[in-house]
Amino acid sequence: MSAEKRPLPEGTGVSDDGFTSHVIPVRHFFGTRSTPAGLHTHIQLGHIVSGPKEFPAIVSLKQIHSTRVVVIHTHRGLGALEQAEGDALVTNQPETLVVVRTADCVPVLLVEKARGVVAAIHAGWRGAVAGIVAETIRACVDEFGAKPEHMHLAIGPSIGPCCYEVDEQVLNPLRSRYPTWPGVLQETKEGKGVLDLKQLIYHQIRAGGVPDSQIGRVDHCTHCRDDLFYSYRREGQVNGTMCSGIILPAA
Ligand SMILES: [Zn+2]
Repeated sequence: MSAEKRPLPEGTGVSDDGFTSHVIPVRHFFGTRSTPAGLHTHIQLGHIVSGPKEFPAIVSLKQIHSTRVVVIHTHRGLGALEQAEGDALVTNQPETLVVVRTADCVPVLLVEKARGVVAAIHAGWRGAVAGIVAETIRACVDEFGAKPEHMHLAIGPSIGPCCYEVDEQVLNPLRSRYPTWPGVLQETKEGKGVLDLKQLIYHQIRAGGVPDSQIGRVDHCTHCRDDLFYSYRREGQVNGTMCSGIILPAA
């Protein structure tokens, strides 16, 4: 992968599937334009037709920038739920790869190993401001008895503050719903600001009770790194999406 030409963000690794975070103790990846190869193609088309052998079950959703969390309690086959709407998947099922697709929005992966729970979250500004991260943490707690203090979460590649100017449409709900957390928003001129979406999500995870040492991030900007990522804002249209996923090992 061409990422190896430049130093990786601290706490980040690279696997055949994409970037990884050192805080997550199970198999996971934040995909790039080119990885994971087989999976990428099939999910990008909106349907999961087949998948690599090592992923007997792959589940993804029709993402709608909501706070809707879909919980999977029983084994589901390949491509299950792909017409279901939502922006986070939670499961306690082993060998079930939960996947989200992004191209500037933030992919967030979660594991609570003691209870055997994983989650994948798609968080753009709408979902993040509305609270998709807190809803997902709550679903892990309510449905499976997971504990925030035992959770590990990694925040994946997304558009960075270097490239993300926002206007009142984003500023207003952000100001009214959250405290002025450090590093989240820099107001630049009347009605404009620069948003660090990863930082907002970091603070939301901390507010959910997860210890700082258990939160990782892959600090690449999808807009800056066109060698690695699709970017909706850079390209002005959806040319493709990156797949990010997490899977519990066989029980
Ligand atoms: Zn950038």
